[in-house]
Amino acid sequence: MKKIIIAIDGFSSCGKSTMAKALARNIGYLYFDSGAMYRAVALYCMQNGLINDTKIDIETLRGKMQDIQITFEADPDTKNSLTFLNGVNVEHEIRSLEVSRLVSQVAALDFVREEMVDRQREMGKAKGIVMDGRDIGTTVFPNAEMKIFVTASAEVRAQRRYDELTARGDNANFQEILDNVLQRDHIDQTREVSPLKQAEDALLLDNSNMTREEQMNWLIEKFNSLTE
Ligand code: C5P
Repeated sequence: MKKIIIAIDGFSSCGKSTMAKALARNIGYLYFDSGAMYRAVALYCMQNGLINDTKIDIETLRGKMQDIQITFEADPDTKNSLTFLNGVNVEHEIRSLEVSRLVSQVAALDFVREEMVDRQREMGKAKGIVMDGRDIGTTVFPNAEMKIFVTASAEVRAQRRYDELTARGDNANFQEILDNVLQRDHIDQTREVSPLKQAEDALLLDNSNMTREEQMNWLIEKFNSLTE
């Protein structure tokens, strides 16, 4: 069976990662979370004094890009992908609201995007991957054989994020999360470099009212029709 690249893009918190992970597991592909890479860069800035108030020290960050190693490893128990920043497991920290507040600013920097896109292309060299993000089908892999653009209403997305944070025992405030979702949508859609938009050849998936199972059946059907 031929191996392809599956690009899954869409708005924040619409379940892209959960869906991409489950799809990769079902079809035996590798999964890469491109958002985790931008989150790791944001965390690096926080940990290394590159944030003053809410402003990023852009010039210092530019000079540090090669010092930021981001790798993924499978959790030995759950098999979920874990994100490592310079050898340290940061999977939990990169999902915090502090990182969420900063990440879209970091991801709007042209030199950060160039570097991450290069690394992402390297990960897709052998195909057989599912990668999710904002610009995977438009910029990273414009020739990906299967492209999905996922969306859901902002309220549904904020509720999912709220449930995720409370489930892991974090304090969460629905209104704060909704504001963050809307703010990230705005920054992601209006930034100059690779703004979030649906690729012309991407299939639109609005999952506001879909169960995970319905979603998976829909994806597998598309995948089978492309690889048979
Ligand atoms: O997908 P996730 O919400 O974890 O991504 C975090 C942030 O990283 C997004 O809000 C967006 O600003 C940025 N991002 C991006 N391009 C990608 C993936 C994520 O700009 N391919």
